[in-house]
Amino acid sequence: MKTKLEYQPDITETNKLICEKYWLRERDKRNGFIYTCKEIGQEFGFRHKEISSIAKENAQLVVLDCQCMGCGLTKTCHTRTQLIQLNLDNWRCDVCWDVLKEIRMKESLKQHFEQECLEEEQRQSVLKYINNYRDNQLASDILNCMEAAITQDVTEYSVYGSDTYKQVYVYGALNRGPITLNRNFGFAWGVNGFLLFNALGKLGADTVMSMRKRVAEEITTTFASSYTHEVSLAEVLHLQSIAAYGKQATGEKYLITPQK
Ligand SMILES: [Zn+2]
Repeated sequence: MKTKLEYQPDITETNKLICEKYWLRERDKRNGFIYTCKEIGQEFGFRHKEISSIAKENAQLVVLDCQCMGCGLTKTCHTRTQLIQLNLDNWRCDVCWDVLKEIRMKESLKQHFEQECLEEEQRQSVLKYINNYRDNQLASDILNCMEAAITQDVTEYSVYGSDTYKQVYVYGALNRGPITLNRNFGFAWGVNGFLLFNALGKLGADTVMSMRKRVAEEITTTFASSYTHEVSLAEVLHLQSIAAYGKQATGEKYLITPQK
């Protein structure tokens, strides 16, 4: 390891001797200090802590083997600890560290932003699929999947399929096209419409009231919902609002807040 000791111009002879002894190393090894601070202190009549501050104030060790990875500046050490802890092959000066940190931060922000964009893109394409392209065979696919699951362990083939009843309920009406059924699921099946209000009508007033009570009690937990927009009663009549909440779509709920 090649090093060079540089002194402050106004250094006294004693301090120069102290600095020399402080930095003197066995065969120029990084950690091979010949004198401890205590020994130097005893020789010159100082406490051992004072030796490192004298060395720090009056001299610096130029490490000729160590250049900044960014700008090529040669490293200088003011204390033994700095020299011992120095990473010779991977050292950057403070300025270059700051530059590097800034670059890394910008890169990380950019990555984060790109990830968010990607997630939003995926969300939008799923919504687009649900709103526009969900084909009319979803009920058929579900029935066929159910039948495949039921018959996977069956050893004997039957042309009539399984006798386990399979039921698909269609609720909502985003897609009003025909329902096509590719009938590879035997004969035990049904497709029905489902509407919450009709179902509630069969339950009786007491049950409905207790269900409503539960919803009211758990409105911020179990039944918590999020809304893309909140509109007052007056705002409900704005053309812009009507166009938005009148659209048959999913994923964009409007909350009407009459108290506003
Ligand atoms: Zn640098």
